[in-house]
Amino acid sequence: MIYTMTEFDESGESQASILCRSCGLCCTGKLFIWAKLRPAELDAAEALGLTVFRSDPSQRGFSQPCPLWHGQCSIHNSPVYPHICRAYQCKLLKEVLAEKSTLSSALKVVEQVNEMIDELKQIMPVSSNRNFRENLVANIEHPAETTRQEEGYQEFLLKADALLHFYDIYFGVTDLFE
Ligand code: SF4
Repeated sequence: MIYTMTEFDESGESQASILCRSCGLCCTGKLFIWAKLRPAELDAAEALGLTVFRSDPSQRGFSQPCPLWHGQCSIHNSPVYPHICRAYQCKLLKEVLAEKSTLSSALKVVEQVNEMIDELKQIMPVSSNRNFRENLVANIEHPAETTRQEEGYQEFLLKADALLHFYDIYFGVTDLFE
């Protein structure tokens, strides 16, 4: 996420900053499974405490949720802040920055998506080693036979499909990483 909008509220915080601080979806494993890093960033990211993977040159990055997100990014002003974190803007943020959408309507989208995620969490099998997005994909594409036969599985599929559509329409996200 990036905070560049010049419009500020009474406290001096930019609208983009307010939106991203209220959201955090792109940092917390709700939208993405992992984020890309440049080769020169790998050591610094690891030193920051990120879980870095580097063995496959086409897939170098860090897994989400980011441990440095604490309601807001704790390394936003660091000189080793990863490029992807500085550069990434979802569609929702871009529309607020371009003044095609108001902050209040964007915050309503964030509220709605969080409600959808919370509903899914209640009916999706829990995983201790997968983040939300990874667990969502696994339960859509490779559900355990017992899960597939459960009464609520069709309801899960409908809600999961609605969430993925919402990600596409409002956040411009269809892929598993950025
Ligand atoms: S998903 Fe978009 S609005 Fe939410 S924190 Fe990331 S860039 Fe900001």
